[in-house]
Amino acid sequence: MTDATLLEQIRARSRELGFQQLGVSDIDIAQHARHLQHWLERHYHGDMAWMEKHADLRAHPEQLHPGTLRVVSVRMDYLPDDDKDLIARVRSDGSAYIARYTLGRDYHKLLRKRLAQLADYIAQLAPQPDNGAQHHRAFVDSAPVLERAFAQQAGLGWIGKNTMLINAQAGSYFFLGEILTDLPLPLTPSQDKTHCGTCTACLDLCPTQAFVAPYQLDARRCISYLTIENKGSIPPALRAKIGNRIFGCDDCQAVCPWNKFAQKTAEADFLPRHGLDSAQLVELFLWTEEEYLAKTEGSALRRIGYEGWLRNVAVALGNAATSPAVVAALASRRGFSSGLVREHTDWALAQHAVTA
Ligand code: SF4
Repeated sequence: MTDATLLEQIRARSRELGFQQLGVSDIDIAQHARHLQHWLERHYHGDMAWMEKHADLRAHPEQLHPGTLRVVSVRMDYLPDDDKDLIARVRSDGSAYIARYTLGRDYHKLLRKRLAQLADYIAQLAPQPDNGAQHHRAFVDSAPVLERAFAQQAGLGWIGKNTMLINAQAGSYFFLGEILTDLPLPLTPSQDKTHCGTCTACLDLCPTQAFVAPYQLDARRCISYLTIENKGSIPPALRAKIGNRIFGCDDCQAVCPWNKFAQKTAEADFLPRHGLDSAQLVELFLWTEEEYLAKTEGSALRRIGYEGWLRNVAVALGNAATSPAVVAALASRRGFSSGLVREHTDWALAQHAVTA
């Protein structure tokens, strides 16, 4: 079998497994590694110490998985519905906004399973010496891989000014996964040219002005970081800018003109559960811990824990229009055991002119 035929068969199998696109990159991403280093030196990664810790491995997959010659990148669309007017939703009053990628089941499990199936298929198709080496290894967000860099180099899109990978036929609402392999698969053409042109819509719209420059995100100001990665207090100066976003933010994607080409997901697992795409803040704030655990089971929303959940919803309630229901819900948590929750609840009550 020729290398080109081998790649076509792998691509066909990836489509059967639900991936929309597959590309192959070599392992040299020196330019992206320099960009990462520059970003880390400016401490734009905030408390994400793991970004710093694994910086070398991110740029050198052959150190992560010895013998690696190629990185196979795949993408899978996740947008749960055809409604792309997400900006309107983030501004609607009284409801919560949760980033679209996390309304359904945690994507890691599904992607990891499908990637493992694809890796098995590659192993069957191109058997290699049984020398004790693992010839193919799959990754989904779970290891230090600079996935957007490899995906760009594999031709899956370009890295936009909003730092997301953008595909001219599919926008940016998709997950990426990688298989590191020691098979010398043929490379697919890299996407070297960006198509952002003179557009600055994402930079202009960002509610917290988290982009210090095109292609440069200061995570410490990013709502995704503040509501998910950040475990402590949300800086008071940024709270009002968070609006009704309680887990992540899609603004820099929602405003991107290329997302008019985004496709609705084919995966039932990514569809919203428990009405989380239109839930009311008051209702979410009054969830008991048991309800929180039950309704976020199998979801990435579990990452922040009940305390983080209440912290985030308290901030969003502080930004909501004043109403007896909002004030009563906030007041009901005044004596909550967590100081973090009390601090954000008191701040929220103060936004409604209620003080202790
Ligand atoms: S909104 Fe404009 S500048 Fe930002 S990523 Fe999309 S095309 Fe590029």
